[in-house]
Amino acid sequence: MSGEILYKCWMCGRSFSNKEIELIERISCPYCSSRVIVKIRKDVWKRVKAE
Ligand SMILES: [Zn+2]
Repeated sequence: MSGEILYKCWMCGRSFSNKEIELIERISCPYCSSRVIVKIRKDVWKRVKAE
């Protein structure tokens, strides 16, 4: 699953994947409906942890 992208909501601080966003068919937080979210790539997270 290399295409999975994680997002984090700027408002409520929850993280979710692009698959969860696909369910609601738009870019917004599935928990609080905020549209202020930041993109987090999983492989970037792994690289940071490895160092
Ligand atoms: Zn939210």
